[in-house]
Formats: sequence, C-alpha cells, structure tokens
Amino acid sequence: MKAPPRLFVEDALCADQKLILDREASHYVQNVMRRRVGDALRLFNGRDGEWLAHIESAERKTAQLRVTSQSRPMVGVPDLFLLFAPVKKARSEFIIEKATELGARTVQPVITMRTIAKPLRDERMALISREAAEQTERLDLPTILPHAPLENVLKDWDENRLLFFCDEEGAGAGENKESQVSPLRQCLQDLKREAPDVLAKSAILIGPEGGFAPQERDALRQLRGVRAVTLGPRILRADTAAVAAMSVWQSVCGDW
Ligand code: SAH
Repeated sequence: MKAPPRLFVEDALCADQKLILDREASHYVQNVMRRRVGDALRLFNGRDGEWLAHIESAERKTAQLRVTSQSRPMVGVPDLFLLFAPVKKARSEFIIEKATELGARTVQPVITMRTIAKPLRDERMALISREAAEQTERLDLPTILPHAPLENVLKDWDENRLLFFCDEEGAGAGENKESQVSPLRQCLQDLKREAPDVLAKSAILIGPEGGFAPQERDALRQLRGVRAVTLGPRILRADTAAVAAMSVWQSVCGDW
C-alpha cells in the first residue's frame, strides 16, 4: 500500500497529540488528498521527525487529527546554502523547488548587478518549498531568506562558510587563461582530502541569465572563504547550474 500522504504542520508533534487543521490545510487534506475520517497521514514540523496521525473528525472548513506514533526520528539536511540571482519566474520557482529536493538548508536569493528579473514574493517561495519538502520526504523545510543585494550578503558573510562561486568564465574558454579555475568536483575533492572540516558549512552561488559583472567577479575572487569554480566547458542556464552544482556538492561531501 502507498505510504500515507505527508503534511507539514507548525504544531509540536508527540504521541496522542490532538491537532486542529486550519482552513487551508483542511481543504488540502479533504479535497486535494481526498482523505476521510479514519484515514492516516504523516506529519512533520521540521523539529520532531515524522509522525503518523489519523483524521479523527472533519467538517467543511476544519479537521481534527490525532497523532499516534513517530515513524521517523528527526534528521536534518547537510549545512549547504544556495545563493541564486532571480531569473524568470518559472525558472526561479524551479530553482527553489529543486534546492528543496536536493537538500539545501537555506536558500538566499541575491540581487546582482545584472539581475533583471522581478523577485518572487516571499509567500510564493515559502509555498513552493513547503510543497517540495512534503513531496520529497525531507523532515525540515529550507529557510528561504528574503531577497538581498549580493553586496550586502557578502559584507555580512560568515567566513567559516565556504562559498563556491560558480563562475561561467572560469573555464577560461576565451582569451583570458588567467581566469582559469578548477571544476567544482575537483575543488571539493581536494578540500575533502586536505581539510574536510571546512566543507561542513558550504554555500553555492549562481548568477543571473546575464552572468556576473567583471567588478563582481573581482570582488568575489578577493574575498576570503570564496572559491571560484567551474561547472565544465558548457555555459548552463542558471536553473541547470543550480541543480548541477548542488548535485555535485551532495555527492562529494553531502549525504548522497
Ligand atoms: N550569460 C552568461 C551566462 C550566465 S549562466 C554568459 O553567457 O556568460 C548563469 C549562471 O550559471 C552563471 O552566472 C554561473 O553562476 C552559472 N554557470 C553556468 N554555466 C557555468 C559553468 N560552465 N561554470 C560555472 N558556472 C556556470
């Protein structure tokens, strides 16, 4: 039998806990998931692991659940941040969804010099990541920070968090061989061998459709704790680059 559907709730979860669903969650459970009184659900809140529950009573605009037992203890995702410059709406939404599936702990949209896309609304980003987390079986939600200028984010940067700056010009395909940097996978593997602890807190930075401006590239490369890396000889779209970079990070030093 298929496992019961998963629902994110804010409430604390423990055995025998009673839970009242608000109108929106109740609509989702009854009309979207088509669950009835007596049916089972799985609940998670980002803190207490995953719990089984069943619907004890249901009305049109509300439903009452009873929590029974824990089905999975709490495990978090590795400490990986994704910083991305907003791109076209559907692609930014894709980035948030995939970052959630790929286990980003925090997502920080950053406004760069060549960012032209309008930022997504905070509520929209929260909804996308919640739905992706429900679907992908993770036990927490990523923290989605409000959009901020890249400059400000870098000014307050925690130097103990290594920032992998995905530089589309890093492969040095053009005349500028000076700017050659190592591929992300190689950089991670070298660090893992030499100083694995520094990878415990990492971040990936992906630019907008127009790429990074030369000033940004220079500023980034001069910062301590920033490593410029490439994702190979082909220029990827920002959404592809985000998925590719996170996949490489998870497979070399994350939880894959
Ligand atoms: N218009 C730019 C490309 C931007 S691609 C140009 O033609 O130069 C969007 C973002 O994806 C880039 O800013 C970078 O962060 C990332 N990216 C895409 N391909 C990449 C690659 N081969 N190596 C490193 N980063 C890449």
